[in-house]
Amino acid sequence: MKKLVLASGNAGKLREFGQLLAPFDFEVLPQSTFDVPEADEPHVTFVENAIAKARHAARLTGLPALADDSGLCVSALGGAPGVFSARYAGEPKSDARNNARLIAEMQGKANRRAHYVAVLVLMRSADDPQPIVAEGEWHGEIVDIPRGEGGFGYDPYFLVPELGKTVAELPHEEKNRRSHRGQALAQLLARLRAGV
Ligand code: IMP
Repeated sequence: MKKLVLASGNAGKLREFGQLLAPFDFEVLPQSTFDVPEADEPHVTFVENAIAKARHAARLTGLPALADDSGLCVSALGGAPGVFSARYAGEPKSDARNNARLIAEMQGKANRRAHYVAVLVLMRSADDPQPIVAEGEWHGEIVDIPRGEGGFGYDPYFLVPELGKTVAELPHEEKNRRSHRGQALAQLLARLRAGV
């Protein structure tokens, strides 16, 4: 199996990427295996943050690196929390406090539309001049009452209207197939297969 370092410390993402990439003979290892500290994410766009994270992990490990930057964009909040999704309620990161802030901000808002975004960057090396960049979106609505135990982050509050279920209520295979990360990864794999 080919080693690929995942530039993230998020256990939920590691599990999802591991499941999605295993059929393609990639062994996805978290950067913590190599004592790589979390990179700064100073940028205001997903793609810039993903590039910064992948380059940092590739530089410190000497391995190809995969980074994603992802988040939730809520229409009624002007796209917030966006790149600040992980720390929407400040430090230390907490899904419970992020969700509480989201629901507070959404009080009285009639427009419940939101989408998850994932940008994936694969760099063959730290100075790869042409990283592969792929992007996926998953559209839904924010609900006030959480449902389901699966997934992570905002999933119990993110309703997929055509299924009548929140993401936290979906089996992980179904989440992987439909999700912003699943879509971005399908694009990335197509690019890899095509040798682009
Ligand atoms: P990142 O680690 O900087 O990409 O931050 C992503 C943040 O966006 C996570 O900590 C979650 O708050 C949110 N997020 C991204 N993808 C998902 C998902 O699939 N479900 C729930 N929350 C997500």
